[in-house]
Amino acid sequence: MGKLLFIDLANGLINEEPYPDDIGRDFIGGYGLGVRILYDRMKTCVDPLGPDNMLGFVGGPLTGTPALTSGRYTVVGKSPLTGTWGDSSSGGDFGPYMKFAGYDGIFITGISPSPVYLYLNDGNAELKDAIDLWGKDSQYTDDVLRERYGKRDTRVACVGPAGERLVKFACIMNDKGRAAGRSGLGAVMGSKNLKAIAATGTLSVPVSNMAAATRLRKKWSRRMNESAELFYEYGTAGLTDSAAETGDGPIKNWSGSFVDFPEVTDIDGDHVNSEQARRYGCWRCTISCGGRMKPTAGRAEDSHKPEYETLNMAGSNVLNSDLESIIQFNDLCNAEGMDTISAGAAVAFAVECYQNEILDHRYVGMDLNWRNGEAVVELAGKIARREGIGDILAEGVQVAAERIGSGSEEFAVHSGGQELPAHDPKFVPALAVTYRMDATPGRHTQGGAGWIMGSNFMDDSRENKYTADGFGELQSRATSMVHLVNASGICLFGYTGYDIEFIQEFMTEITGHSYTLDELVAVGERIGTLRHLFNLREGMNPLDLHMNPRAIGDPPQSEGPNAGITIDAEALTADYLRAMEWDSSTTRPSDEKLKQLGLFELVTAR
Ligand code: SF4
Repeated sequence: MGKLLFIDLANGLINEEPYPDDIGRDFIGGYGLGVRILYDRMKTCVDPLGPDNMLGFVGGPLTGTPALTSGRYTVVGKSPLTGTWGDSSSGGDFGPYMKFAGYDGIFITGISPSPVYLYLNDGNAELKDAIDLWGKDSQYTDDVLRERYGKRDTRVACVGPAGERLVKFACIMNDKGRAAGRSGLGAVMGSKNLKAIAATGTLSVPVSNMAAATRLRKKWSRRMNESAELFYEYGTAGLTDSAAETGDGPIKNWSGSFVDFPEVTDIDGDHVNSEQARRYGCWRCTISCGGRMKPTAGRAEDSHKPEYETLNMAGSNVLNSDLESIIQFNDLCNAEGMDTISAGAAVAFAVECYQNEILDHRYVGMDLNWRNGEAVVELAGKIARREGIGDILAEGVQVAAERIGSGSEEFAVHSGGQELPAHDPKFVPALAVTYRMDATPGRHTQGGAGWIMGSNFMDDSRENKYTADGFGELQSRATSMVHLVNASGICLFGYTGYDIEFIQEFMTEITGHSYTLDELVAVGERIGTLRHLFNLREGMNPLDLHMNPRAIGDPPQSEGPNAGITIDAEALTADYLRAMEWDSSTTRPSDEKLKQLGLFELVTAR
């Protein structure tokens, strides 16, 4: 285990602590470590953008090890977008280098009197003046800090100008094109006047049995290359057209269907690949789903391949088949440091308001029509700069709709304040529950029955995916396992391609602790439950969260693959609560469940 770092930016105090063994065993790391520390040490009901919010950067036990796809780190804190628990994970190389610099977790409170960055260097930590970087975009910041400390051994995580301006869905960028995108934690970092963390690392991450871990790497490499063909060939961009055809991907701000957007084939994986200069992968990943785009006028110098989520939210969801505009939107969001899902959803919301004469041309200053790629890029820029209408949209669609009024709530597609990602519960019914019941509302990376369950881990043998019969147990195990994988430092794309023994074997050989499958599921459930308890302590009951009814087909659509479908979200949720042993109205876990997970004393101690 490495060390944990605690920093108070108000007075510049930096303290190191050893990583407690019991937390390592019971919560393994990543956002498991994050929620255990924040639950214990953060005051309740703090202002997410105030000094008492604790912002954590946490690696998993497998981050930076020989395990395949082990480049993930997670940022944690209270979300300014939802007011709930917030976390967001990113790939690339920053997570491993944070560990090579000697730290498994960094927890930051306070607000610095002036802009600073944190420099980590082989077990040492210093705060440095960041006046020269403030106001600069994420790519410039990355270049300057890596130049300053040595490109080979230094990696950078930073906010762009959107984080400094407290755009509520600002993200934290690393490696120029990888983002801890969701939950608005870039705004938290900006609120602390913390521009960046630069990690120079040459230390090694402890591995209990390196020879066995290396053997496992070879064994699972062969399997990965066979199972991840689509991601290898296209990255997630390969999902764009099929998602539109099946009804997985929302179209026309969740009000339309494939029938409205046959031009989706103009932004499919082949078209994206034709603009790609080369592929790249995160740490220890041979899938290499990332890509850098050919340099052309209008693109960033280091232009990255748009992900499926971006192609949908800035493409299908606004009926935009102009691929160049989506690439430029992606570049802009990366440079400014904004989540492409929320930014795209905010644009779609504004377009629908404009089409319904709730917003007028005089106010927005452009023709906000469907199929207008230029407007997508222009409006995203206004949001990042908080200019005009952009200032309202920068608060997220929930708050924007409250301020604009005139019935615009109908067009604000979010759950609990977070804009929904590009996966439709009408196609994946479990997401109707995950989007509300996970501690970070509106997230597709938190698992669900029939959705990110891991190869050979469990079968969804229900004949009808819309039925609540047998749903709760599946949802409980699937989400628990995803918490485990997210916390371990492994990429979810790897998880979907492996047998479940992949996680079990690497966890055992790298940590030296022999885990059974049931123990691993229990770790995941413990992590998910403590995230939920964090929200309950904040007074947030997920049953009170509003999710836009379009997401569940209320009213049902009249055409397209999801025509006539309305999800019985209440029945699915009730069965999930039963399976989790959470109260059907307060959602508080039963005392027996808390004792079984070893959380009872922690929760009742205060
Ligand atoms: S699959 Fe893609 S996102 Fe996941 S580790 Fe590999 S390159 Fe990174």
